[in-house]
Amino acid sequence: MAGVNGKPAAVDADDDPGVVVDGVGKTYDGDGDPVRALEDVSFSVEAGEFVCLVGPSGCGKTTLFRVIAGLADATNGEVRLDGTRVTGPTTDMGVVFQEYHLFPWLTVEENVGFGLERSDRSADERAKRVDEMLELVGLTEFRGTYPKSLSGGMKQRVAIARALAVDPHLLLMDEPFGAVDAQTREMLQRELLDVWASTGKTVLFVTHDVAEAVTLADRIVVMAAEPGRVREVVDVDVDRPRERGDPAFGEHVARVRELIGARP
Ligand code: ADP
Ligand code: MG
Repeated sequence: MAGVNGKPAAVDADDDPGVVVDGVGKTYDGDGDPVRALEDVSFSVEAGEFVCLVGPSGCGKTTLFRVIAGLADATNGEVRLDGTRVTGPTTDMGVVFQEYHLFPWLTVEENVGFGLERSDRSADERAKRVDEMLELVGLTEFRGTYPKSLSGGMKQRVAIARALAVDPHLLLMDEPFGAVDAQTREMLQRELLDVWASTGKTVLFVTHDVAEAVTLADRIVVMAAEPGRVREVVDVDVDRPRERGDPAFGEHVARVRELIGARP
């Protein structure tokens, strides 16, 4: 598969695998005053790592997600994936949005296979890949179903399978479980951790739910608002599988909440 936008990997310092967010700033120039959505945001995600980005509403999480995904340009700085500067959307990233973004006119299996249509795989290889992905997210028996007949949790499983089908280096998710009920959400979190463990993917997961971040992440990038910036990066030293009743879990939640609530 081609690299980012078909360009060869950079040869200098940063061709480490993973994501590097390097001094990213973003200002929106609207009709009124410019909005400084991000200022000098820097952090990295190592290959195979699960990193969550948390922060209050309006701190620039979605803006940063869009810059990393190549869907928006940074005003300053850059993002590198495996050492190559991101300049536009790429199949090296699988992207999952809060809204399901499924194609209503396609079945579950057609949705999952959508990104593969443009790959250089044979029809047999594509079919096999779709089967594997349906199996991975437990939707094999719903392969012929249309999105309108699926629950929110099932739709998001389809979106995850579709994002992973092209075998991206990075799975990038923006509040993917924000629209489902609490019970389904915890189930999807467990499933995502299983997928992560079995595929070894690098995951960058945006959420405003602190307990969700502590459940999932190796490290949590805590952001602050106005302007959107990194307040601190917290290591989550809690054994997996993580239990919400575990004192260490509660201590991490309290620590991150304190950081989010802290004044500049
Ligand atoms: P979050 O996802 O953390 O809630 P956003 O990235 O959506 O934050 O928004 C960060 C800031 O940028 C907010 O002040 C928001 O109003 C502003 N913003 C986001 N998108 C735009 C846009 N397209 N034009 C102008 N301002 C925007
Ligand atoms: Mg957002």
